[in-house]
Amino acid sequence: MQRFNKSFTAQEPIGEDAIEAAVKVMRSGRLHRYNKDAGEQNDVDLLELEFSRHLGSRYALAVSSCGFSLQLALRSTGVTHGTPVLCNSFTLSPVPGAIENCGATCILVETGDDLTVDINDLKRAAEQSGARHLLLSHMRGHIADMDKVMSLCRSMGIRLIEDCAHTMGARWNGKPSGTFGDIGCYSTQTYKHINSGEGGLIVTDDEDIMARCVLMSGSYMLYDYHHAAPGVEAFEALRWTTPNFSGRMDNLRAAVLRPQLAQLDHAVQRWNRLYHALASFLSEDPEIRLAVRDPREEFVGSSIQFFLPTFTSEMMNGFIKQCENLGVTISWFGKAIPTKYTSSHDSWQFIANARDLPHTRKVLSTLCDLRLPLTFSVEDCNTIAGIIKHSIANITAEKST
Ligand SMILES: *Cc1c(COP(=O)(O)O)cnc(C)c1O
Repeated sequence: MQRFNKSFTAQEPIGEDAIEAAVKVMRSGRLHRYNKDAGEQNDVDLLELEFSRHLGSRYALAVSSCGFSLQLALRSTGVTHGTPVLCNSFTLSPVPGAIENCGATCILVETGDDLTVDINDLKRAAEQSGARHLLLSHMRGHIADMDKVMSLCRSMGIRLIEDCAHTMGARWNGKPSGTFGDIGCYSTQTYKHINSGEGGLIVTDDEDIMARCVLMSGSYMLYDYHHAAPGVEAFEALRWTTPNFSGRMDNLRAAVLRPQLAQLDHAVQRWNRLYHALASFLSEDPEIRLAVRDPREEFVGSSIQFFLPTFTSEMMNGFIKQCENLGVTISWFGKAIPTKYTSSHDSWQFIANARDLPHTRKVLSTLCDLRLPLTFSVEDCNTIAGIIKHSIANITAEKST
């Protein structure tokens, strides 16, 4: 079997237009977002305006990371020390981390076979805990039935915060991910959909929430310098009582992001071309079950998830190793020990009185996850699928002898 020689971590270079914009910022020396006069619009201001327009939201704020934005989102919707916060269990560690950072209590909710939140368990957990906040993480771009989520949130008075680290550019039934709840949070970390190394973005239509976020992000008393935030009246009372957590975005990152945002829809098409090609190659193997997606889900295929439902833990281990030896890097969510970026709810032992999640454990036990960098081609997807199928055949043959 021919080894696959491309790297799963390779990125496309930053475009020349973005490099030029970054150089211009460096030549000016004005990197800090408030290093300007009140009426001026610098790259951070323009990024916020362009992002709010992109999503059709009233307000937008750029910050230092998505994890930081989640913390601001929680705090701005009333989460404080000891507040119970519901969260779907299939997510990345910065999500429970943001809840912990507020001193709040994370209430993990079961994951369904489609990798999204289990609505029945969500209702049960809300009733049992009395929680009135939901941090919904659209992990790996899998979007729950937002009609059902919204209807539950409305009927129970639950405030919704969306973690859109993997759904920038995605929609549910035509409506952009991140515009369903009270507030949406996005990442611009290198592995997400636009790349500034580190960075985060927040959108909301709520004046009070945005005013709190701006102050907490570290605006000092320069909130009137913002162009995608509410007017000064919204800040009058809050300025005395809102702490500054200092997590701003700078003009250098914003300059690099603006041309990428303009190209986002095109990048989404390119990701989905790779995703559908690989999904179609993989679906030929009866051992592979692809994560089911609702037709209303307009996702971004920047990664792909599949299950090997008949595989034991030992077989999974062998399979992952064989793929790795042939150059195909797969993350396995059922692994007992957290490695690299991949950890599961069982390893977040800082969560007090964690709920038992037997269904999630079962779902994750054979869950495989592959990154699809835009540096890959459809031909590469064919090669990768060939290696995966070859490794599956080897493992199942070993088992039957
Ligand atoms: C990456 C990621 C985050 C955190 O984003 P950062 O910008 O790295 O803080 C949050 N949620 C999910 C699902 C992620 O993948």
